[in-house]
Order: sequence, then C-alpha cells, then structure tokens
Amino acid sequence: MAIIDLQLKAELLNVTGLIPNEEKEAYNWHFKIRCGSCNETTKTFVTINRVVRTQSGSQISGSRGDANLVMKCKFCKREGSATIVSKPIEYTDKDSGKFASILSIECRGLEPVEFEPRDGWRVVGTESQAKFDVDLTEGEWYDYDEDAGVEISVTEIKAQFVRAKHPTKGAASNKLSTK
Ligand SMILES: [Zn+2]
Repeated sequence: MAIIDLQLKAELLNVTGLIPNEEKEAYNWHFKIRCGSCNETTKTFVTINRVVRTQSGSQISGSRGDANLVMKCKFCKREGSATIVSKPIEYTDKDSGKFASILSIECRGLEPVEFEPRDGWRVVGTESQAKFDVDLTEGEWYDYDEDAGVEISVTEIKAQFVRAKHPTKGAASNKLSTK
C-alpha cells in the first residue's frame, strides 16, 4: 500500500484558489493507471470519483473491501485498487510556478501515472473575489475579470505523482512521473 499525492504546478495570473468545482457534485478525476505487478499502463484515462465506491472482486488481504477504483490488469489479471483519501486541496497563488499536492490517493497494486485536468475547475479573482469556471481541456485558460479590470489566466499546467509517506527516501527519488 502506498499513499500517492497528485501534485499540480501552474502559473496563476490575478487569480487564486484553483480547485475542482465541487459545489454540485464530487469531481471526476482522470488518470492513466499502471499495474504494480507487470507495469502495464492503461491506454485510456480511467475515471475516479471519491464518492463512488466499488466492491473488490477478490479479497485483497488487509483491504477494506471497497475502494473508489477496483481494476483488474488486462495483461497479468492482477487486481489492484485505489481510494481517494483527501478532499481536493486548493492550488493557491502562493504555490504559483511550484508543485503542490492537490489530492492524496491510497493505492494497492496499481498507481496513477498520468493526469488530465479537463473541465470543471474554479478560480477566484485576487482583487474582485469573483468566482470563475475554468476549463483546462486546452491546457491553459484565459479570461477577463471585469470587476478588477485585469486579465486573468491559468497557464503552464503540469502534473506529477509523488509517494507521500516514505520518510526514508529522499524527495527527488520519490518522483514517479512528470507530464
Ligand atoms: Zn499487470
């Protein structure tokens, strides 16, 4: 079992608090998943939602029996599971240009290796405090904050996954994947 953090890096212009908009429903995260046994990675993105729980087919020793994702590897047939163990964490303007954790995932026998942010995000205008819906499908987002009279944007988005709870390893060697 490992706790893996999804970290985001972005340049925020005149906005703060980039976060999935969960006012109506919990956010659908999209990950490519790598099997922990044979390293086969899914060809397509897999959807994980922290309020959707699935019963695992076989009882993995020590597992709680249900998770947000239960997946059998197409190649080696081993089953793995993932459970989101945090609410989404805001990426603030203090983080701008640096990697910061925005989600923690408990993984057994598999791990996420690629993240696609897609649609459904929200930011707040730094001066106006106005909320804006943000679509990150194109990898960047631009708008105009009329109340503050400034251009606003979210650009240079990058994601990486790091192992959150392995105190014996150095931070650099914990890096699993960068996109
Ligand atoms: Zn496999």
